[in-house]
Amino acid sequence: MAKVKKYGFFRLMLFSGIYLVMSLVIVPLTAPLFGRVPLPLFNKHLKPLTIATVLLNRHYVKPQLLEVARSTSDELNKMYPGTVTFYLDANFPFFNGFPLIPHLSHNDGKKLDLAFHYLRQSNGEYTPQHPSPIGYGVFSGPLKDEQDQPERCEEQGFWQYSFMEQIVPQWNKDKFILDNRRTKSLTVLLASHNSIEKIFIEPHLKQRLGLSSPKIRYHGCRAVRHDDHIHIQVK
Ligand SMILES: [Zn+2]
Repeated sequence: MAKVKKYGFFRLMLFSGIYLVMSLVIVPLTAPLFGRVPLPLFNKHLKPLTIATVLLNRHYVKPQLLEVARSTSDELNKMYPGTVTFYLDANFPFFNGFPLIPHLSHNDGKKLDLAFHYLRQSNGEYTPQHPSPIGYGVFSGPLKDEQDQPERCEEQGFWQYSFMEQIVPQWNKDKFILDNRRTKSLTVLLASHNSIEKIFIEPHLKQRLGLSSPKIRYHGCRAVRHDDHIHIQVK
C-alpha cells in the first residue's frame, strides 16, 4: 500500500514538474510563432490578479494588446503612483477560434479583461487587493437612480448575465468600494489608445464615471455583466 502511495506521489510530482516547464518555458517560447505573447508575470505596474491565469495559460495576447496593457498601466501609475493594474483572462496561446471558456469571444488574441481599481471601505484609501479572488463576480451594481441593465437582462430571461455572483464568494464585498478616479482614468487611457477598437463596461458605470468615448459600447444581454471588470479588444 505504502509503495502504491509513494508511486502515486512520484507521478504527481513528475507531472507537476513537466506541466510547469511546459507552461513557464516551452509555451511562452512557442506562442510567438502563432502571433501571441504572454502578459508579464513580474511587471511592477501590470500583474495577473491570480497566478492561476498564468498557470492555465490564459494570459496570451497579440503584441499590440501587450503594448496597450503595458503603456496604459505605466501611464496610470504615473498619474497615481503605486497603482498596479491587474489583468484577468486574456486568450490561450495557440490557434484562432479556440475560445477561452466561459468567454466565447476571447479566441483570437485580441481580447483582454482588466480588473477595476478599488478603495478600502474602512479608510477610503487605494488598495491593490480586490473583493473577488478571481476578479469576476463581485459587482459594483447600479445605484437607485442609475440604469439597471442587469435587471432588464434578467427580465428578458438571460439567466447567465449575473450568474457569476452565485458562484463567487461575496464575503469581502463590503470591505471595498469602486475607485471611481482610477477606474475612470484607466478606461479613458485605454479609449485614447489607437489600437483599441472596443471597450465593454456596464452602462450604469459608463454613466457614473462620465465616460463618453464612442469606443465604449454595450455588450448585450447574451454576455455577462461588466460591472466587475473592463473588457478591451484591439483592432
Ligand atoms: Zn472579456
